[in-house]
Amino acid sequence: MTQMTCYDLHSHSTASDGSLSPEDLIARTIEQGVDVLALTDHDGTEGLAEAKQAVKDTDLTLISGVEISVTWGKNTVHILGLNIDSDTDSLQQGLTKLRDYRIGRAQEIAKRLDKSGISGALEGARKYASDIMLGRLHFAKFLVEQGYAKNINDVFKRYLVRNKPGYVPGEWASLADAVNWINEAGGQAVIAHPARYRITATKLRRLVTEFKEIGGVGFEVVSGRQHPEEIKTLARIAEQFELLASCGSDFHTPDNTWVELGRLPPLPESCVPVWSTWG
Ligand code: AMP
Ligand code: MN
Ligand code: MN
Ligand code: MN
Repeated sequence: MTQMTCYDLHSHSTASDGSLSPEDLIARTIEQGVDVLALTDHDGTEGLAEAKQAVKDTDLTLISGVEISVTWGKNTVHILGLNIDSDTDSLQQGLTKLRDYRIGRAQEIAKRLDKSGISGALEGARKYASDIMLGRLHFAKFLVEQGYAKNINDVFKRYLVRNKPGYVPGEWASLADAVNWINEAGGQAVIAHPARYRITATKLRRLVTEFKEIGGVGFEVVSGRQHPEEIKTLARIAEQFELLASCGSDFHTPDNTWVELGRLPPLPESCVPVWSTWG
């Protein structure tokens, strides 16, 4: 019997808000029996060099990826770039701007938390982050440490989302910029975890339409912790809009025992997998 190839095309390392170094992430990916992994850190590709080194002399195939933060109307959406050439200037200039923006945003988050009586959040969050990228998950870890909530999910709900004390509306890349950077880098742009956005079905279709018009090609039909009904709905959208289907766990940390590398339901039969276009 032939074994199916196991693809996981969405993951994070300490180069963004994951808790494993690229090297440790690769070791765990191999342990979990994954054959093809994309490292897709938020707004940066700094982890790729170490990851490439770590897959040498192993059977794991590494896909160079990134997850770009985008502001679309009033919403934040995430666009994955798969198979990018990370040495591309326009991509790197764009990503650098996003990470610089993150520094100012982090200062603003800390200022707002301070006003609500939580001091030292910037330094506290930095302890959990590398020098590369500072994000809300780092603040969440600090707030849990300080006893403001019992877990990460709780802390997000109470402090870090819209209408909460530490919320700062994002001003990320435009959808067109993100897709262009990925295309200029020879990659494939994929809408990440489409079911996670708090937008109506109509709006999601508008997002997909715009995304296609500007050169996006993929849709993450299967992601970590997803309901079977959602997968069916997303597969239908992918089919209707002729988008390639991707799957990825969005793995961040071994502490989340319910999201593991490579542990994903298969893509529905109707899907055209994004890897079917790979040589
Ligand atoms: P940022 O890009 O800095 O705004 O942070 C977004 C990241 O925060 C996501 O990629 C997740 O890693 C994390 N995140 C957002 N909401 C939650 C949540 N409810 N529970 C755990 N992590 C979350
Ligand atoms: Mn994240
Ligand atoms: Mn995301
Ligand atoms: Mn992600």
